[in-house]
Amino acid sequence: MVRIEDINVYETAPEGINLTVVKLVTSEPGLFGFGCATFAYRHESVRHVIEEYLLPLLRGRDVSAVEQIWHLVHHNAYWRNGPIENNALAGIDTALWDIKGKMAGMPLYQLFGGKHREGVPVYRHADGRDADEICDNIRKFREQGISTIRCQCGGYGGTYGTAPSTAPDGSPDGAYLDSRSYMRDTLKLFGEIRSRFGFDIGLCHDVHERLAPVDAVTFAKEMEPFRLFFLEDALPLEQIDWLRRLRRLTTTPLAYGELFNNPAEWRSLIAERLIDYIRVHMTQIGGITPARKLQIFAEQFGVRTAWHGPGDMSPFAHAANIHLDLAAHNFGIQEWSGTEPPNSVIQDLSGPKDALLDVFPGMPVFRKGYVYPNDTPGLGVGFNEKEAARYPCGKPVVRWTQTRGADGTLVAP
Ligand code: MG
Repeated sequence: MVRIEDINVYETAPEGINLTVVKLVTSEPGLFGFGCATFAYRHESVRHVIEEYLLPLLRGRDVSAVEQIWHLVHHNAYWRNGPIENNALAGIDTALWDIKGKMAGMPLYQLFGGKHREGVPVYRHADGRDADEICDNIRKFREQGISTIRCQCGGYGGTYGTAPSTAPDGSPDGAYLDSRSYMRDTLKLFGEIRSRFGFDIGLCHDVHERLAPVDAVTFAKEMEPFRLFFLEDALPLEQIDWLRRLRRLTTTPLAYGELFNNPAEWRSLIAERLIDYIRVHMTQIGGITPARKLQIFAEQFGVRTAWHGPGDMSPFAHAANIHLDLAAHNFGIQEWSGTEPPNSVIQDLSGPKDALLDVFPGMPVFRKGYVYPNDTPGLGVGFNEKEAARYPCGKPVVRWTQTRGADGTLVAP
């Protein structure tokens, strides 16, 4: 029997984003697995859970019992489904799947049933200060073979910096969003994009939960003429009961789920077909094991996957997404954050920078609109500890989540 001998946690920030890597060392010399346990904004808490609680729990256990170990960890602290516990669990679970693949001599998509397609179509983010800049970025992505693009005016809309003059006296500096001008600007942008590029290009937009529910309903209806690929997170997590109303009133396809960490949050949304795309964050729900169950569940209801693929997950999680995508019949599309430093899309798309590739050799590669995994056994991604140590993590106060409405009230980030 091959046993868990040790669990090492590494923290690295090759792109300035904190990433947490789990290395699960086994009793068999040379056999180990990697997983992603990234919770970028609470990374030391995840490390603490793994080192202080999960290592003593798991040392000596049979690495082949992936499902059993998932349940063991999930229930071990009695209270469950929080982001710190789930990300820690995802690191272990993904590393166990990596080991399973290495022991079988197969890439993970083979263990999941084999490929439905040879490559994974991905979408990218075209951001910019105005329509010209956003359209320039769309053009660059199209030249790379990307046919579906998420478009946003200046990130998630709004202004950053000093408090706007329309806010009450004494309002703090930071991010402000005026929902009326955000909706107006976005509708204008999509009109402009469709008039320049026509309808042969897939367009996504992420509201990022920033609208009041009734405004989200109006906005989704007003976006209908632009025939979106999907509208993402139109409602705040706390207001998902409004999805029934949103669904009844609009034909705009809806994508939802990157904040979910509990099956109770997605079960009725899928069973009632209230959404078109489920886009959970693989590590936030606890790893590959629950993600596979969710994907297979969604397939029964015609809901497709569009797993969250942001910069604040490590290439081990991106690789897990790609393996799941290849083996999913109900795959929709994959968000791909690429290997350039964040926001470089606005400045330069000339080619990938090396930091992420240096730390994570073998990470999935992008070619002409598709991403392909490395075909070696397991996840197919390595980890260069020496390179990783060159990029220490920071612990700044998180500011981007402190967005305010026009009158200074904090809103969902
Ligand atoms: Mg999003």
